[in-house]
Amino acid sequence: MEICYSCGASEIYEDGLCKKCFVKRNPLLLQIKPQKIVFCRLCGEIKYRMKTFHLPKDNIKFLSELKKSIKANKNIYESVKLEFNLDNLIQNQVVDVVASSKDIVQKQVIVFIISNSLCQICRKKGSEFYSVLIQLRGFDEETINSTLKNYNQYIFKIEKEKKGANLFFIDSKKAEKYIALFIEYHKSKNAPINIKTSKKNDGIDQSGKKRYKTTVLLQRKV
Ligand SMILES: [Zn+2]
Ligand SMILES: [Zn+2]
Repeated sequence: MEICYSCGASEIYEDGLCKKCFVKRNPLLLQIKPQKIVFCRLCGEIKYRMKTFHLPKDNIKFLSELKKSIKANKNIYESVKLEFNLDNLIQNQVVDVVASSKDIVQKQVIVFIISNSLCQICRKKGSEFYSVLIQLRGFDEETINSTLKNYNQYIFKIEKEKKGANLFFIDSKKAEKYIALFIEYHKSKNAPINIKTSKKNDGIDQSGKKRYKTTVLLQRKV
């Protein structure tokens, strides 16, 4: 009986190899590089290869652009069919692709590098978008910068002040988290903080409820 020269399985598919070893040696798709996109978390716009997309509306357009980065192994396979799953793109930064040719099916993952940034339209709309304004007073720049490390993408605008800053958060949950972290950080350093929160009416949302913008003042106790 013939066996696969690579793994010894008692099955020959082609070139003296079993199917598994043959596909391993001859993948359907050539290596796919990680893809870079810019994502606007306010409106969901995706910028990819100099074009803009709103998923799922533009799924087909996006895929035809994505396919330009994918090369089938044409030396071995005459035609390769591709099926994509875009559901995990933003959350897990991957797109699953199933490639198939006759009786061979191979799953692959395309890795995406996503950077968060406001798109031009959202940027233009300006401060309409902020939901929480955090005013920091009595802190040096170094402290402020170090606490901002993981939050820059949730902040629409930063105004530097003498011994402080105004942070316009677009995401109220993240703003809350930031405030908690900021307070915690100063507690651990034995530098207590005064906290003052105020709300102002900011029109009415689509469901007819009043909308508010919150201002939180964090001031170092002297
Ligand atoms: Zn084998
Ligand atoms: Zn946008």
